[in-house]
Amino acid sequence: MVMTAAGPDRVDLAVIGGGLIGLSAAVAAARAGLSVTLVEARTCGRHASSASAGGVRSLNRHPAEIALARRALELWRRAPELFGDHCGYAESSQVRVAEDEEAMAGLEARRARSKALGWSHEKLIGRDALYARVPSLAGHCRGALVVEDDGFADPLRSVHAFRRTARSLGVTIRENTPAEAVTAEPGGVVVALAGGAELRARVAVNAAGAWGTGLAAAVGEAVKVRPVALQMTVTEPVRAFVKPVIGTHGRKLSLKQSEHGTVVIGGGFEGRADLATGDSDLDFAGVTQNLANAVRLFPILADARVVRTWCGIEGIAADDLPVLGPSRTVPGLIHAFAFSGHGFALCPLIGEVVADLARGRNHGFDLTPFAVDRFA
Ligand SMILES: Cc1cc2nc3c(=O)[nH]c(=O)nc-3n(C[C@H](O)[C@H](O)[C@H](O)COP(=O)(O)OP(=O)(O)OC[C@H]3O[C@@H](n4cnc5c(N)ncnc54)[C@H](O)[C@@H]3O)c2cc1C
Repeated sequence: MVMTAAGPDRVDLAVIGGGLIGLSAAVAAARAGLSVTLVEARTCGRHASSASAGGVRSLNRHPAEIALARRALELWRRAPELFGDHCGYAESSQVRVAEDEEAMAGLEARRARSKALGWSHEKLIGRDALYARVPSLAGHCRGALVVEDDGFADPLRSVHAFRRTARSLGVTIRENTPAEAVTAEPGGVVVALAGGAELRARVAVNAAGAWGTGLAAAVGEAVKVRPVALQMTVTEPVRAFVKPVIGTHGRKLSLKQSEHGTVVIGGGFEGRADLATGDSDLDFAGVTQNLANAVRLFPILADARVVRTWCGIEGIAADDLPVLGPSRTVPGLIHAFAFSGHGFALCPLIGEVVADLARGRNHGFDLTPFAVDRFA
């Protein structure tokens, strides 16, 4: 990457997108001494970042992401120091339940695979240990894969904390300012903004979430990423019945109970996403199936009333991995988008990776699996 000094009309880093990935990049870069301007098409955190379930999971990660997820956990634990707020982060075990022998075999294979790669954070537990841990589970389950030191955080609280921290470090945040194109110029890039203005920077990062695909396509980098409206539901408070965050192997379900008793239910059911307007719509058949899955695992939920359902637009890549690393067509452009439904967990770390890329430093992670040209 070309390294030249920022001039009076050029910042070191232009961040396109004010979700948690862009905000995290702005914070890390400003903390490293770079001048940073962030442009956000709407308001910070408007899309996936505030719609998120907030799960901070290293359990059952794609092997290419395990190192990132484990390091990100360390940063979440340091949230008060890094973002001036605990961000609602709490350590919690994550449990991936097997409901039958086939699923149990799948979890055993998964455990063997991560162990062969040198990872020891995932533990397989049998039926008795599972019911000792989660007595409220329906009686048919066989065992589970567990990570003890995963966690969860509060997405909206995190957005506010990251944004406040960015501002306190001198980042200029321009909301309601969509970027339209990025082009190279000697020693840097020009970000064309809606309305004809331009933002000059030494380096720019495309952190535009589901919309990052369009910015990449505009510089000749086609990626296999589709916009998806992921759905979530929350119930009224019910009596405490589950401590870990629960997922299932072979059924679309993720579930956690908050300290207030409400139960947040998701698992990848899709609504309808409209990138042009930024609107999304629920698919109620999917919501119904999601709730049926929850009741199948936890019969105690049969009478729980739903208080809210929502969805948020996320870019999901064909291989479920983010696009992260330098553009191959525009020197000075970095991509960091399409976190494929699990970028919340990674966001504090991705900012540091982007800041290192912007400074031409080695962050120590292998980004090859995330390369923008892997879809060719
Ligand atoms: C319902 C739901 C539940 C989820 N649950 C989890 C979970 O439990 N755990 C987990 O790890 N992950 C989860 N995720 C995924 C996680 O929330 C996302 O991966 C993460 O928030 C992505 O952050 P982002 O900054 O890349 O995207 P976004 O938050 O979408 O931010 C991108 C921003 O870019 C802006 N933008 C777009 N185009 C432009 C432009 N041209 N110019 C300027 N700005 C632009 C948008 O307005 C938006 O604010 C969930 C996602 C959803 C939707």
